[in-house]
Amino acid sequence: MADDQKKKAKAIIVGGSIAGVSCAHALTSIGWEVAVLEKTGAPPTGSSTGAGLGLDPLSQTLISSWLGNPQLLQQATLPLTVDQNRATDGATKESWNLTRDEEYNFRAAHWADLHALLYNALPPDVFFWGHQFISFSISEDKSFVKVKAKLLRNDDFVEIDGDLLVAADGCLSLIRQHFLPDLKLRYSGYCAWRGVLDFSGKEDSETMKGIRRAYPDLGRCLYFDLGSGTHTVLYELLNKRLNWIFYVNQPEPEIKRNSVTTKVSEEMIDEMIKEAEKTWVPELVKVMKETKDPFINAIYDCDPLRQIYWDNVVLIGDAAHPTTPHGLRSTNMTILDSAVLGKCLEKWGVENLHTALEEYQSTRLPVTSKQVLHSRWLGRIKQGLHLPNREPFDPKNTSPEDLKDLQQKNMPFFAINH
Ligand SMILES: Cc1cc2nc3c(=O)[nH]c(=O)nc-3n(C[C@H](O)[C@H](O)[C@H](O)COP(=O)(O)OP(=O)(O)OC[C@H]3O[C@@H](n4cnc5c(N)ncnc54)[C@H](O)[C@@H]3O)c2cc1C
Repeated sequence: MADDQKKKAKAIIVGGSIAGVSCAHALTSIGWEVAVLEKTGAPPTGSSTGAGLGLDPLSQTLISSWLGNPQLLQQATLPLTVDQNRATDGATKESWNLTRDEEYNFRAAHWADLHALLYNALPPDVFFWGHQFISFSISEDKSFVKVKAKLLRNDDFVEIDGDLLVAADGCLSLIRQHFLPDLKLRYSGYCAWRGVLDFSGKEDSETMKGIRRAYPDLGRCLYFDLGSGTHTVLYELLNKRLNWIFYVNQPEPEIKRNSVTTKVSEEMIDEMIKEAEKTWVPELVKVMKETKDPFINAIYDCDPLRQIYWDNVVLIGDAAHPTTPHGLRSTNMTILDSAVLGKCLEKWGVENLHTALEEYQSTRLPVTSKQVLHSRWLGRIKQGLHLPNREPFDPKNTSPEDLKDLQQKNMPFFAINH
């Protein structure tokens, strides 16, 4: 058969979040056909979905190459060129700098903006919304994989064949569970309250004047504030939004089996504000108070997997490496997974699928494993939790080793992302 008549290799991607859309770009750009199955009924709209995330320089380059226009990402994000850690004394509300790195080079994106940017640049016919993955089977000769999905609008089932099944179905991945039924996520010991304050039309309010006085580099700085047994994250997003996170040590909350987000009540928000008032400067508490619909995520990760592909099935993104958020790795690892998978498939072709997947695994596993463990370590330091052979971190009494560990640039393999 002539080359141009050859059947295109086909991947079925389960999950249409950042891993799914990134992988769709990486694979269509090497000439593969893709079908993305996403259980959510429709594309996310507006900024009510998700909050902020930080993109490292390599992710910025990859996304720009997929979009074909570097301006688009620049226009949808704000710079994060400073990584700063500050200590706050809860009693006096006095704050002082611990570390400041002026060469950070990340960009701040809103999850929904990034998703929209990537999704809108894909051909519309590759996406199947409202399709819930149910099961898969691999042909006896391992030449193809058959995926069964449920159409949520009418409860019908469909079957789709492909050469490769990509599990981009997140940290609670059903596909991973098929291969690793005993794997459990590990609760970190703390939850993250999160919110995005929309200050459009309120630039001159007391709240905004106050927060800009207390955090003068908003708009280019990733602020970490460290209190006793707690920390916060604060940075600005495009279109007059402030993204904040407040980590609280607490027993594991009861959550639905298929989610790591807990439903919040007014009482829970009041409690969170009272807790914030004990430690944080009033300017930051005011931002938290004025934020509409803050939400809470229980923070999980898991010990690094030993394997991330089996026959014609491969894991990417949070399915391959659930992680805590402290190293800003989750989305960045996901984007690089997709790019590396694309490169390996391009190099070896579908006829050498297992060699390609082996190379993907041997390239990504050593990096993501170290980054997940480092993020875990960073979270335990910043939350003042017990660590082997080390006193719990106290922001009022820091060692040079503490100050080194706090900085984002000391993440393993940080340089490859630059
Ligand atoms: C709606 C949403 C908002 C988010 N907002 C933020 C944010 O603001 N900041 C941040 O840092 N991270 C956010 N995240 C998480 C972030 O996307 C991930 O941590 C990271 O980018 C890795 O992405 P992922 O695609 O591997 O996993 P996820 O983003 O968790 O995506 C997994 C996807 O798989 C789909 N899925 C799961 N099971 C099935 C199934 N059986 N059939 C079909 N589809 C299935 C889910 O609906 C989901 O869309 C958000 C995730 C989602 C889904």
